[in-house]
Amino acid sequence: MKLLVALGAALLLAACGCSSPPRHVGPGQEIDSGIAREIDSVWAVDNHAHPVLSPPADTADREFDALPVDSLEPESVPPAFRPDFPALQDAWKALYGFDGQPPLNADGMKRLNEARARVKQQQGEQFANWVLDQAHIGTQVANRVALGKGVQPPRFRWVPYVDALLFPLDNSGLAAVSPDRQKFFPLEDKVRDRYYAESGVKTTPATLNDYLSKVVTPTLERQHAGGAIAVKFEVAYLRSLDFSDPPRDQAARIYARWARGGVPDPEQYKLLQDFLFRTIAGECGRLGMAVHLHAMAGDGSYFGVAGVNPLLLEPLFNDPRLRRTNFVLLHGGWPYERITAALLEKPNVYADISSQDLLMSPHTEAQWLREWLEWEPDKVLFGTDGYPFSDSMGWPESTWIANRNGRQALGIALTGMLDDGEITRDRAYALARQVLRVNAETLYHFTGSH
Ligand SMILES: [Zn+2]
Repeated sequence: MKLLVALGAALLLAACGCSSPPRHVGPGQEIDSGIAREIDSVWAVDNHAHPVLSPPADTADREFDALPVDSLEPESVPPAFRPDFPALQDAWKALYGFDGQPPLNADGMKRLNEARARVKQQQGEQFANWVLDQAHIGTQVANRVALGKGVQPPRFRWVPYVDALLFPLDNSGLAAVSPDRQKFFPLEDKVRDRYYAESGVKTTPATLNDYLSKVVTPTLERQHAGGAIAVKFEVAYLRSLDFSDPPRDQAARIYARWARGGVPDPEQYKLLQDFLFRTIAGECGRLGMAVHLHAMAGDGSYFGVAGVNPLLLEPLFNDPRLRRTNFVLLHGGWPYERITAALLEKPNVYADISSQDLLMSPHTEAQWLREWLEWEPDKVLFGTDGYPFSDSMGWPESTWIANRNGRQALGIALTGMLDDGEITRDRAYALARQVLRVNAETLYHFTGSH
């Protein structure tokens, strides 16, 4: 099929003497071959992923997420997360030379794991870097509790989790809201205890001032000193994104009332969280770290889709005290992707395509990607959300598939803009480099390692 189309294009070119390059056959639409070449040539900055440590540390590694989603109640699973997802075959072949067809039976899974083990054996501690090489990713922004073996700068840049700092009081009332939060809050309490220990604090400080000066600020400063380029909130899994702006005195009273124990009133506790969120966001601006937010319908059957609408964040984006803080809407805010486009107009708001390029087809994703590029092209970031989703789809496979699909979506969007005369060919190439690499380098003030 591809051959026939290419042959047809060549004959057409010969017949009319046209000079424009022939077309790649993309998914659902042709991609201009010059644009495809430009896109393929870029060593990308992947704005968001959860790499797993290199062997032998990989098997016991659980720090790729503060809230691993593999223990939740069953939900309706999107096709990309099912064991028969066709793209898995391409990823296994490209990464490990394994030619099995999904879904794999027990014997097939055994052979896949043997093929994986052979590459891990060859690569050793370089395995994580090798995975990036296969996807032509120069730098992957690693959203992990901590970095570790093989997942290190300059190829990996750290983004730690800070949700735990929003919840300093007894969280049993919040945990009782749903079975998912019953699992999540004890995990957040563990992260918070770790931050206390690292800050040299043994018990909950008695006052809000002490909590801020002895735990919150030292934790953020330690993360910054440890190489963090941003912090991550996956708070949409724990509550809605409507952060109000309560006065400090009110937050201090609420904190002091329950710091010594007791289950706080949920409405009062929310005000304290709101105050803490703004404070942390302000501190990140002072330290030069961006604020990443999970902004997409999330995993689990109890996830609050209404509460992840990025429009809820507009008062924060518009707060003059937070204009030094750059916010990044991870996963583009889907299903609110058009709202995301409008919010990109704020000087301190960015969005990435991570996860969308795994869960959506390139053709679908290209529609809103084109809209974003027409509206605010300097604020759009490439990303994968590579993550150890299942036995069939480890973080290498999800990184590889999302990388391929994301580049195809970009190619479709830019080809459409070129065809419609919106942009020149040079501008299309420049936009490809911006999305894949330059916008992230500008945001984080670093240059990719490749
Ligand atoms: Zn993620």
